[in-house]
Amino acid sequence: MFKQISLADRLANRLARALPRPKMHIEPQRPIVSFTFDDVPETALSNGARILEQFGVRGTFYTAGGLSGRVHDGQPMLADEGYRELASRGHELGHHTFSHRSPVRLAGRYRDDLDRNDAFLTTVTDGYAKNFAFPYGLTSPAAQRAVDRRFRSGRGVLPGINRGPADPGLLLSVEIGGRSEPASLVGWIDDAVATPGWLIYFTHDVKDPPSRYGCPPDLLERLVGHALETGCEVLTVDAALDRLEAAP
Ligand SMILES: [Zn+2]
Repeated sequence: MFKQISLADRLANRLARALPRPKMHIEPQRPIVSFTFDDVPETALSNGARILEQFGVRGTFYTAGGLSGRVHDGQPMLADEGYRELASRGHELGHHTFSHRSPVRLAGRYRDDLDRNDAFLTTVTDGYAKNFAFPYGLTSPAAQRAVDRRFRSGRGVLPGINRGPADPGLLLSVEIGGRSEPASLVGWIDDAVATPGWLIYFTHDVKDPPSRYGCPPDLLERLVGHALETGCEVLTVDAALDRLEAAP
């Protein structure tokens, strides 16, 4: 996933992060956990969505229309019908650009690329995506401005729990990857319970064995189960923002 990141990508990303950012205050009464899936591999529907539904909860699936029906990072991606299926089962479709390129590679075409994915999303769900995830976690000053204007939230890949003053345009998130230690992943939930905050996990495929960017099904079951057992609310990103904005 990170093989395409250039020095220019890193510099633009660092520049955007150095700018002063608007903050929202996150202090939920009950800790919140969101499960998010990027790109979106077929197994994120067949296993990921299925596991969430078994627990009676839903997830956010960050969709890049240009990947629909293709093979990406060695994984078959959902085709259009799969995205319709996710939406019809109550999951949230987020926005992940159309082409899945970094801000530096898209340069002046970033907004056009966002428009193109809006057009794709209207063919598979009602209306537009409200929440965005940066491909490769890469932002830039111009991309960040575009995302801040258009979306309710943006999600990066810097690990952490969103609490206290948090940046809604560049939310922290914890990767469930093929190399993640299950015990430390579970520990993030305990941390979010000890001092309530909003923990967002992200992953890609959900299968056994997973790719280096994915998650085995039994680990996803363990995390969802642990979040619910410890009193967390498990919400889509959009529902989490509803809850946080409604908090006194
Ligand atoms: Zn991605």
